[in-house]
Amino acid sequence: MYDILIKNGLYPDFKTMQLVRGDVAVTDGKITAIGELDGPAKEVIDASGHIVSPGFIDIHMHEESFVTEGHECIISNLMLQMGVTTGLGGSCGVIRQDIRTFKSILDELGGFPMNILMQSGYNTFRTELGISRYEAASDEQIRIITEKLQDELKQGAYGVSFGLEYDPGIPSDEVIKVMKSFPDEDMYFSMHYRADSTGAIDSINEMINFTNETGKRFQISHLSSCSAMGQMEEALKLINDAVAKNPKLDYDTYPYNAFSTRIGTAVFDDGCFESWGKTYSDIYMPSGKYANQYCTKETFEELRRDDPNRYVVAFAMNEDEIAAAIANPACGMIASDGQVKDHAGHPRAAGTFPRVLGKYVREDKVISMIDALKKMTIVPAERLTLHNKGRIEVGCDADLTIFNPETVKDGATFENIFIKPTGIDYVVLDGKLAVKDGEIVNARAGKFIPGPYTK
Ligand SMILES: [Zn+2]
Repeated sequence: MYDILIKNGLYPDFKTMQLVRGDVAVTDGKITAIGELDGPAKEVIDASGHIVSPGFIDIHMHEESFVTEGHECIISNLMLQMGVTTGLGGSCGVIRQDIRTFKSILDELGGFPMNILMQSGYNTFRTELGISRYEAASDEQIRIITEKLQDELKQGAYGVSFGLEYDPGIPSDEVIKVMKSFPDEDMYFSMHYRADSTGAIDSINEMINFTNETGKRFQISHLSSCSAMGQMEEALKLINDAVAKNPKLDYDTYPYNAFSTRIGTAVFDDGCFESWGKTYSDIYMPSGKYANQYCTKETFEELRRDDPNRYVVAFAMNEDEIAAAIANPACGMIASDGQVKDHAGHPRAAGTFPRVLGKYVREDKVISMIDALKKMTIVPAERLTLHNKGRIEVGCDADLTIFNPETVKDGATFENIFIKPTGIDYVVLDGKLAVKDGEIVNARAGKFIPGPYTK
């Protein structure tokens, strides 16, 4: 008796790069049969007209701030709803709580809406030591921070992330010292670059140097928000050449032409519009005094002065460059960079994966279905050494996302991130039905996946 039998769907075969017709059976958390199958099964899903994909793997997300925002699991529920079954948090150098705390809360919850791996955040421990964002850490301070990061790895962190834009005082050699202090030659690091737009190419060269100099695995985070302001062609050429020589390098990217941050940050300092080729009316205000309006010179200056912590959305990126980063055949993965704060945020947290399948595959045809699925499943799975995930093969983990390729579409908008996607009809997580007819029916089938350094 199968637990779940999924009939009449197409599934991606990444060996032949074809979509193949076949029923898929699931028992005890694993894929146990593929082909022309009959029951008996406890549950039968008719997947006619649907694609049965490995569950999407989000290699760059942000996790819940359990301590300050409660245990609602808003981010991970949005992830599950858009078909993400496994994600990597702790991105951009900043963690919301240490790994011990994170794991103990998951234990209390009795499971999680998705499987999750965590990085530890370099900037978090740097800030904790009281080091100013504009100064370099001393050797003694680096020793203390790396000791803490070592402990995080023992607790289950998968790797370490950096956010150079947030702490511009971190010199290159500080990063190299930290990376070299870890003995595992293949350790995973990711980085939010030092600067966007006119600083993008220098930042990418710096990151290529980090991986070449240290020999470690290295992920460039959310490439589009770094270089879709006129630099993407050069950025992709640089990265593709570097990856050809050193496959330990790669990048991820999200499918939106806007980023979101606080209006008072250095991102909006003098010269930003010139460097992006944009103007005041490209800045949208989702909340506050001017909710749902675009800036003028006057409102922009007023908010910078009087309401600097107000989150605004900057439509600073160019559509054709977003598409180029998604479609790049040489490398690259799809990832959300999703985060939610105070029940608001950027729609990427709730729409990234269906948006790529709806807009970039079906409507704009900038990438084929199989290539897009590859960048959402098997590539991030291999990157995170999750060899039982990211593929539909007998014996693999039964994490599956079943969607309608004719209707799949993101729903979340900048005005309301809680509008559901369309067409993500079923999600199976660890062999259990987690989403049925587009509704979450089990938000506790996921678990913490420890990294390779736990004892
Ligand atoms: Zn970032």
